Amino acid sequence: MVTGGVQSLGEFELIDRYFARSTVAAGKRPDVILGVGGDAAVLRLPPNTDLVAAVDTLVAGRHFPVDSDPRSIGHRALAVNLSDMAAMGATPAWATLALTMPCADASWLEGFSAGLMQLADAHEVALVGGDTTAGPLTISIQILGYVERDSALQRSGAQAGDILAVTGTLGDAGAGLALLTARLAACDRAVADELIQRFEYPAPRVSFGWRARGIASAAMDLSDGLVGDLPKLCAASGVAAHVDVARLPLSSALRALVPASEARELALAAGDDYELLVAVPPRRLDDLAAVARQLNLTLTPIGELRRGNGVTWGFEGRPYAALGHGYDHFR
Ligand code: ADP
Ligand code: MG
Repeated sequence: MVTGGVQSLGEFELIDRYFARSTVAAGKRPDVILGVGGDAAVLRLPPNTDLVAAVDTLVAGRHFPVDSDPRSIGHRALAVNLSDMAAMGATPAWATLALTMPCADASWLEGFSAGLMQLADAHEVALVGGDTTAGPLTISIQILGYVERDSALQRSGAQAGDILAVTGTLGDAGAGLALLTARLAACDRAVADELIQRFEYPAPRVSFGWRARGIASAAMDLSDGLVGDLPKLCAASGVAAHVDVARLPLSSALRALVPASEARELALAAGDDYELLVAVPPRRLDDLAAVARQLNLTLTPIGELRRGNGVTWGFEGRPYAALGHGYDHFR
């Protein structure tokens, strides 16, 4: 049926066309006993593993601008979940998709499914089921993965004396979103493109997380900004943290876009980075740095864990008062 230039599809037709044939699921995963098409998926865990499960929802207008490129929406919906697997040191394997959208627009679905499937294929994740309903655009993905028994990384393992480090650079995605929504403007197109790319197509650090097992003492992914996320790691581990704000890893694109003070604020509070925050005993830092190097990732020590509780921030020898706070839906 064609109405007003938008090709509208029926529920089963669209599932069949866009979601039934996850390319990797089709052939490469013998652990998918039953995928899309059954009342539920049947999945087989490798022996001696723990199942690792997470779910994340993206709501239009809240987690992404309503007019975002659908390819980016599909990518991000899966990427935020892969990032949770990364934080646990887990191997992502299967995903289900609950998709609520106002209408079945073929060109939107084309882009959305392409963005989602491309990232799924890159991580050999099979889409094994879901639910499709009409309503305000909301995408919920549940990811399932596994980890060798008792080896999952957690937020709770950090010890006083550990070094605090982050992968990649911080603040880029926040700047990218600000550029997309015209809260910031760039004079250099390449700078703007690089930062927008970091918001639209985050790269979850799955390999790093997997290899950090047995080296890092604790890990979490940075979705809400360091200011919001670090206190959660401290609380879970029963330790305090001190961060040297001057050491926050800032990309050259971010530094080209805004003054250093603003770049630091974005790095602390903007969120959406999907980098990993890890605690590592000082004697294991070199091992973890080697893992990062092998993956062409930077790993930057930004502070340390101490006895006590709460987070203190320092800058050039003085206490630093972070202006922002982490993202909280209900604050
Ligand atoms: P049921 O009514 O039994 O829940 P549905 O009719 O909702 O099943 O869905 C039919 C099949 O298509 C199921 O196997 C379901 O997992 C799958 N499915 C539905 N929506 C999606 C989607 N957005 N992505 C992937 N699979 C989907
Ligand atoms: Mg259903």
